[in-house]
Amino acid sequence: MTDVLVLIDPTAAAVELADLTLPQLPVDDLSAHRGDGIFETVLVRVDESSDDATVVSRERHFARFRTSASALDLPDPDPELWDRALDTVIAEVRATQPERVEFGVRYSFSRGLDSPRGWAFSVPIDESVLQARAEGIAAVSLDRGYDAYLGSKAPWLLIGAKTISYAINQAAGRHARECGADDALFVSHDGVVLEGPTSNLIIRRGDRLLTPDPTAGLLWGTTQRLIFDHAEELGLRADYADLRLQDVFAADGAWFVSSMRTAVALTSLDGNPVTRDDELTAQLQRIIGRG
Ligand code: PLP
Repeated sequence: MTDVLVLIDPTAAAVELADLTLPQLPVDDLSAHRGDGIFETVLVRVDESSDDATVVSRERHFARFRTSASALDLPDPDPELWDRALDTVIAEVRATQPERVEFGVRYSFSRGLDSPRGWAFSVPIDESVLQARAEGIAAVSLDRGYDAYLGSKAPWLLIGAKTISYAINQAAGRHARECGADDALFVSHDGVVLEGPTSNLIIRRGDRLLTPDPTAGLLWGTTQRLIFDHAEELGLRADYADLRLQDVFAADGAWFVSSMRTAVALTSLDGNPVTRDDELTAQLQRIIGRG
C-alpha cells in the first residue's frame, strides 16, 4: 500500500505532491528536534455505492487545529490552503488506490526553522484497529503526573493542544503493553480520570453518556464531540463530569473513542471486567462512520 504525501508551504500558500519514501524534512526543522508543531489525523470514508469520500468531522478537526496553533503562537492556518492539501491527498489516494474505502490523513504544521512548513500524508488503518473495533480492548490506569485542572494555571504546558510531542503518549502505550494490556487510561495525580494516550473515554451510566471535562487536562476529542452531538438520537443524554476509576468500573459500558479507531469497547480496566454494551458499540461506530 503506497501512501501519499503533500508538502504545504504556508508562506506561499502552495501545496505539491511529493514522495513519502524520500527525505523531505531538514533535520534542523523545529518539529523534528523540539516537537514544536501541531497535527491532526482525520478519518476518510468512501461510500461504496456513490463513491463519495467523506472526511469525518472535517470542521471539528480544523477548529481544533486553529486552537492548537494559537496555543503555540503559530500563525493562524488558512482553511483554504489546508483543505486543498487534504483534498489533494484524498484525490491522489482515490486515483491510485480506488480499492481503499477507509484511510486516515495526518496533516501537520511545524514552526519550521526560518519559516513554518506543513505536510499531509495518508495513513492506513492498522489491523490492530480493526481488531479493537470488533473485540474491544483492555486498559491499565496510569498516573498522568499532574493534578486535574492544572492547564488554566499553567498554559505553557500546552495541555489540550495537539502538539507533535507525543513521546509521553507513546511511552504510556508501551508501558500498558508491558503490563499485558492494550492501552493506557491516564488519571490525574489527584485521581480524576482523563483520557487514553490517543483517545477519549466515554462511559454509559443508565441513559447518560459521560466523559471527562476537557478542561480537567486532556485533548478535547472530535470523536467524543461527534458522539455527544448525536446522543439524543440514541435516546441518551450527554454530559461532562469528573469521573473516578470507580465510575469506570461501575459503568454500564465504556469506550475509547478517537478518529481512527472510532469507538472501541473497554472490556477490562486494571484487570477488572467492564460491562460490555455491544449494541451501543455498533451504534456509535455507525454514527461515527456517517461523519
Ligand atoms: N486524546 C488524545 C491525547 C489524542 O491523541 C486523541 C487523538 O488523537 C484523542 C484524545 C481523540 O481525539 P479525536 O477524537 O479528535 O481523534
